[in-house]
Amino acid sequence: MIDQYIKAAEIIRSAKNVVALTGAGISVESGIPPFRGKGGLWEKIDAEKYAHIDTFMKDPATVWNVLLKDLKDVLDKAVPNDGHKGLAKLEAMGKLTTVITQNLDGLHQAAGNSDVIEFHGNFASQRCIECGHQCPTKDVDMSQMPPRCKCGGIYRPECIFYGEMIPEDNLERSIAAASGCDVMLVIGTSAIVHPAAMMPAVSKQNNATVIEINAEATTLSNHISDLSIYGSAGDIMNGIVRYMTQ
Ligand code: NAD
Ligand code: ZN
Repeated sequence: MIDQYIKAAEIIRSAKNVVALTGAGISVESGIPPFRGKGGLWEKIDAEKYAHIDTFMKDPATVWNVLLKDLKDVLDKAVPNDGHKGLAKLEAMGKLTTVITQNLDGLHQAAGNSDVIEFHGNFASQRCIECGHQCPTKDVDMSQMPPRCKCGGIYRPECIFYGEMIPEDNLERSIAAASGCDVMLVIGTSAIVHPAAMMPAVSKQNNATVIEINAEATTLSNHISDLSIYGSAGDIMNGIVRYMTQ
């Protein structure tokens, strides 16, 4: 493990522009369950069904009850862990420029990263599907399900459900960041949900070194990643940052 931390630290030390792609795994140590894998939401519910826009539009009360209510409770309390903090430290060292995240939890900004592309939006705000009124999620009246705006319309989170398009601007900015970096750090993503999952390949095509940090091997491990480090994101980021500063 130490050898891998040293190797990753050396690669990052000689890099000019590091970009990170993160998924649900980086937030597991903040108490937010991922969709896939051990302890994932999919062990309990069919997340792809309940996180689909068609299911929400047909039956918003059920989607709020089964998925969104719990997500709100967890995200209201979550704080950045050592994985997020490690990325903020890499930015402070002048190495990391951009974080592309599939997460909805806002924890990269809370940790101090300044350029965060939220590929799938953010759960922190809700929008009325009738009048478009926006409301911070923490202020939404949860006493009735689904929660409603003053106009009677239903609130939906300002994030991308399955079945919805990724905002074009997010996609363009992510491709620009992924193709302009010389090191891509891929942390806690199963690299299955497209188009975010194609970013490591975009970096690789542009001669970047890809370092993967995950609890287990992924589809990237064999042919895209130059270095794969398996374990918890917080421990591994601590290890890498330690050798960066030595
Ligand atoms: P995923 O749930 O498909 O995969 C999570 C990955 O993280 C797995 O590969 C797993 O091995 C790894 N992992 C688990 N614990 C880890 C740890 N402690 N350290 C390092 N790696 C760990 O996540 P995904 O690929 O990001 O896709 C699911 C989609 O669901 C996302 O695009 C996102 O929109 C949404 N989602 C977001 C959150 C959040 O905001 N925190 C949480 C769940 C799901
Ligand atoms: Zn309204």
